[in-house]
Amino acid sequence: MIKPLKFLVSAGPTREHIDPVRFITNASSGKMGLMVAESALAAGHQVRIVTGPVNLDYPEEAEVIETTTAMEMHTEIMKNFHDCDVLVMTAAVCDYRPIKTSLNKIHKSDETFILRLERNPDILLSVKRLDKNQTIIGFAAETNDVIVSARRKLEKKKMDMIIANEVGGKNYGFAVEHIKAVLLFRDGENRELGCCRKKDLAEIIINEAVRIHG
Ligand code: C5P
Repeated sequence: MIKPLKFLVSAGPTREHIDPVRFITNASSGKMGLMVAESALAAGHQVRIVTGPVNLDYPEEAEVIETTTAMEMHTEIMKNFHDCDVLVMTAAVCDYRPIKTSLNKIHKSDETFILRLERNPDILLSVKRLDKNQTIIGFAAETNDVIVSARRKLEKKKMDMIIANEVGGKNYGFAVEHIKAVLLFRDGENRELGCCRKKDLAEIIINEAVRIHG
């Protein structure tokens, strides 16, 4: 019998509004987060999901907190972090948001339109400051220098494990069933998984989270 852990899982993209009908986002579907949540529940753990806007049915046994923007996701993760054992950040959080969101729809006028953006807070960098021995797992979706970038992120954001995955290809990455993944650990170990099903990767993540959490 394993000891049930409390998993906090972020999922999906965030959406940064320019005006009421336009926004900046990315291609994340939330599938990876859903699979992580399902695998954790299947292994007898508790799951709370903080999700961005997705088109998915999350399991009924999971507590779901809906968010839209990176700022909202930041607030909810910060609020719920103290009450988790493992944080799995699968969310593709937008790095920038418009400095101003127009209350009304912006009408076209000039030939060019300049949109000024400001940085969103980094959620993983923020939660680390509250760390009470939680296990922290993140993702690094990269198009190039996948391992080097992922290792840098793992160290900077003080994660226990990061899943480096290549995006930009046709058959794996965002919004499909497969992912090309390498697990990187804090002790310097890298484990190549190759192209695998997100469902299988999710099971591996849950097993590793339990092992790391001890
Ligand atoms: O966007 P980046 O490649 O830096 O994401 C690496 C990890 O950091 C992911 O797990 C992502 O969920 C997390 N992240 C975050 N806050 C951000 C951006 C990313 O926690 N503002």
